[in-house]
Amino acid sequence: MSLSEKEILEVFQKTGALLKGHFLLTSGRHSNIYFQCAKVLQYTKYCSMICGNIAKNFKSIKIDTIISPAIGGIIVGQEVARQLNKRSIFAEREDKTLSLRRGFSLEEGERVLICEDVVTTGGSVFEVIDIVKSSGAEIVGIGFIVDRSNGKVNFGFSQFSTIKMDAISFVPDECPLCKEGIELVKPGSRKISK
Ligand SMILES: [Zn+2]
Repeated sequence: MSLSEKEILEVFQKTGALLKGHFLLTSGRHSNIYFQCAKVLQYTKYCSMICGNIAKNFKSIKIDTIISPAIGGIIVGQEVARQLNKRSIFAEREDKTLSLRRGFSLEEGERVLICEDVVTTGGSVFEVIDIVKSSGAEIVGIGFIVDRSNGKVNFGFSQFSTIKMDAISFVPDECPLCKEGIELVKPGSRKISK
């Protein structure tokens, strides 16, 4: 069974994963909305259903391996890989750059699907694209749960998101929430001061 965008949004609201406030995004931008996917994915039932939409979308494509950027993408990649019965690996940050560690590798010609939880500017996914390309493997698609850019981010490969939303974000200098003096929060971390 596939969930509709409306049903997925309801799951986000129900699990407290759709946060409102003043947030620092991984991209460095600020926003009044944050999708804390981990709060949805902690429920294996929802994880299975939502990642199932991604798996279903890429079911007819020949895939050897799924790769995701740590940390947010790992659960998505692992669940999509489980449903498609594929290998799942992840790239993680070391000195600010994503790389393959733990003995993970890709081979030339291997067909790779990239998975992620939330895309705002797509920075982490673009880094994973570079990792896959530099290994000589082939990218067959990009699947992610939330497209915060409402389809504006184009990775240049077949891409699929389970929900699209035009969530507004700001460069820090132009952030109206900063101007209002609202405390900036980095989700999942301790509060940070401005
Ligand atoms: Zn701000």
